Order: sequence, then structure tokens, then C-alpha cells
Amino acid sequence: MDTKTTLNSELSSADLCRANGWKVGRVLQGTDGQGKTCDILIVVVGEDEVIARCLTCKRKHNSDVWDLTFREWKAVEDLAPIPMRVGP
Ligand SMILES: [Zn+2]
Repeated sequence: MDTKTTLNSELSSADLCRANGWKVGRVLQGTDGQGKTCDILIVVVGEDEVIARCLTCKRKHNSDVWDLTFREWKAVEDLAPIPMRVGP
């Protein structure tokens, strides 16, 4: 499968996840323009939006809507998907 590039994509973040087979629990890695690399965990793939949590920055509550088109993201294929907590 060809991986769609995320940087400046015309697709929504959620469509990029669907096109690339990136599901909830998958970890993506991307480097910003300053050379900082973050690993993010996909928490929700919505209609257009993706909610993700940065595993690198380690803030306590930092699940947030994540626009994947600001960086080039790649799946960290070596990591097994992380099981999600379900419910309270
Ligand atoms: Zn980060």
C-alpha cells in the first residue's frame, strides 16, 4: 500500500488515517520544522478530525485534536498498537 504523505495534504487528518490504515492505538512519528521529533498515539479517528496524544512531550492531559498536515507522519510499525482504555 502506498502511504499518503501527510504534510500539506488536501485530505483531512481522519481521511489520511483511513487511507494509510492508521487506526486507534497506532503510534505515528513526525519531525517538525525545528527538528523536534514527537511520537503521537492515535486516540480517535473521527469524521474529519483526529484526536491524538503526544507520547514524547509527556504532558499529563494532552489528548487533543491533531492536524496531521503540519508534519510528515510515519507509522512506527515496530510498535504494537497500544490498547485503549475503554469507559470510566
Ligand atoms: Zn510532542
